[in-house]
Amino acid sequence: MHIYSRRTTYLLFLFFGFLPCSYTWQDDQTLHYEALKQQMIDTQIKARGVNDPEILSVMETVNRHLFVPEDLREYAYNDGPLPIGHGQTISQPYIVAYMTELLQPDSHHVVLEIGTGSGYQAAVLSKLVHFVYTIEIIPELGNEAAKRLKQLGYDNISVRVGDGYQGWPEFAPFDRIIVTAAPEEIPPKLIEQLKAGGRMILPKGPQWWGQDLLIVEKDNDGNVSIEKTIPVRFVPMVKERKP
Ligand code: SAH
Repeated sequence: MHIYSRRTTYLLFLFFGFLPCSYTWQDDQTLHYEALKQQMIDTQIKARGVNDPEILSVMETVNRHLFVPEDLREYAYNDGPLPIGHGQTISQPYIVAYMTELLQPDSHHVVLEIGTGSGYQAAVLSKLVHFVYTIEIIPELGNEAAKRLKQLGYDNISVRVGDGYQGWPEFAPFDRIIVTAAPEEIPPKLIEQLKAGGRMILPKGPQWWGQDLLIVEKDNDGNVSIEKTIPVRFVPMVKERKP
């Protein structure tokens, strides 16, 4: 005696046999990282006062775990910097959000970043502005970041391996400049390459301690003003690469 017709059996198989199989390990991983990311936004970023809805929504779309070494993905949304090789680090999520907020990005802006590192800060900015030029002094990191950003579909970022102290004169002046390594003095060429009415955010100070995050503004007459914000700790902005 048949309880179900052959057609019903087939349909039942489709529902109860096939459907569960279509829920893959990858979906599981995606959900896992989405949950960690949401937690990062709530407990590290919103909780500390970054509330710009556009910045928060961009931080929700950029998958930070794809910017860290594979064996550190589980920690990508933790409240701290992480090593990315060659003695360098990807900045703490809150610092990325805070610097992005201080930069006051706008959709028509052309931005220069010094210190590409993993490419994460550039990826976040690229969703808020017209174009991001970013310079990295360590060739391996610069090339890896360029490849990663291309693979992930970020098509308004240009990465160059070179010395950030020189800026990128071919595309200057810039509406905004963000420096993610700490120089001991504000690099004069970066001030030169800042547009009148522009804004630069940078950490400044000696290696590892006593650095401050600065807002540098250039008014329409070219006068420069500097405001100190919070104390920070960044890797040093090196003068030249030791072989
Ligand atoms: N913004 C990065 C983190 C940067 S860590 C991210 O989102 O992952 C700082 C980076 O600045 C390092 O990769 C370091 O190699 C680079 N750097 C240091 N001195 C530099 C210089 N003079 N010019 C360009 N990059 C520099």
